Amino acid sequence: MLEQDYITLTIGKQKNIALIAHDSKKQELIAWCDEHQDILKQHFLCGTGTTARMITEKTGLPVRGYNSGPLGGDQQIGAKIVEGKVDFVVFFSDPLTAQPHDPDVKALLRIAQVYDIPIANNKATADFMITSKYMSEEYDHNIINFNKSIRDRANTL
Ligand code: PGA
Repeated sequence: MLEQDYITLTIGKQKNIALIAHDSKKQELIAWCDEHQDILKQHFLCGTGTTARMITEKTGLPVRGYNSGPLGGDQQIGAKIVEGKVDFVVFFSDPLTAQPHDPDVKALLRIAQVYDIPIANNKATADFMITSKYMSEEYDHNIINFNKSIRDRANTL
């Protein structure tokens, strides 16, 4: 049988949501989480270290914290996307300030794109995403068939 180039994966009803905010955006993300508490508490939440802690302290929502962003937290969340353990990202990044971990930020955006993960980098996008009908439904999306890709590459390179 011919193997497909894409495989269909399902984002479950309960999402694994990663929350990240650069320093100048932390208060905005906390306010956003507060506003959408009722929806967010139906899902699993994680985030970069400082963001996760501040959200939990200010809103009471349980947010599993990874490392702080500049110390590798964005990369940890990127790895979870690859493993299929994060399937929704809200990342309030600061477009006006240079970040020491800019390569990590770009890597996270790129890997979310590769795995067709919804990712919001401002409040308007996050508002549209969180009020989507898919928040309470399963969502099927097509991902590159990585096993086939590795086999094809190993056979042809
Ligand atoms: P922080 O990391 O939540 O630990 O501040 C966020 C970031 O700067 O990527």
